[in-house]
Amino acid sequence: MKHLFISGILLLTLAPPTSTTYQLGTKTCTTKFTEKKNAVATLLSLHDNENTAIAAYESLATNIRFSLLELQQENQRLFIYQENGKDYIFDPNRIFSDEGIKKTLKPYDANTASKIKDFAAAIFKAFVLKNPNKYLISIHNNTDEGPLSIRDYIKPNKYQNEAKGVFVPPNMDEDDFFLVTEQEDFDYLKMHKQNVVLQSDKPTDDGSLSVYCEKNNIPYINIEAQNEHTKIQKEMMKIIYTLLKTK
Ligand SMILES: [Zn+2]
Repeated sequence: MKHLFISGILLLTLAPPTSTTYQLGTKTCTTKFTEKKNAVATLLSLHDNENTAIAAYESLATNIRFSLLELQQENQRLFIYQENGKDYIFDPNRIFSDEGIKKTLKPYDANTASKIKDFAAAIFKAFVLKNPNKYLISIHNNTDEGPLSIRDYIKPNKYQNEAKGVFVPPNMDEDDFFLVTEQEDFDYLKMHKQNVVLQSDKPTDDGSLSVYCEKNNIPYINIEAQNEHTKIQKEMMKIIYTLLKTK
């Protein structure tokens, strides 16, 4: 009886994941949606090799209510596929503008770019339909192929012009940080002694979702942690949950 009772509770809080399939050339990929009842927001994972973020999500206590939408494509960061006998490659977090597609799609051609633009729109729409909040919350991990830390946003480093505010407390690893678009969220995270970047009002258009959100007045938060910092990323998710609950 006890077992049945526990199963009943699980069924009530976590519905089985549902998947939607997309086709690009020879490649089939899916968006997997894990729904939590009364979720405050849906988290979005675009890089399929960033598994620490997924493990952090799965380790959240049941009272931290986020749903999750994951782009799944062979556990890869970069999206690789064939069409008409040609190999194409792009970064799925660089396809949310024409400019971004131009930079990320290799080899570039206008016809393929147009298909990828449609693909980006489909992924974005799938997310919006499943997200109960006006915020777009991304989850990422930094990897060997794409190293990134909060230091990159501080002079004289490569993203110094992409931030209008950076806060670095003494106690946090520089690879674990938030990137936000709203001043009040920057202030909140600073108050909670978190590494946080406030994105510039005019960031370079690299086709990423943070830039797309800036352009479209969608409040955005990226929860970024180093690979295998599962416990830290889980705590970071809890902080954002509390932040959204107060809004
Ligand atoms: Zn990522």
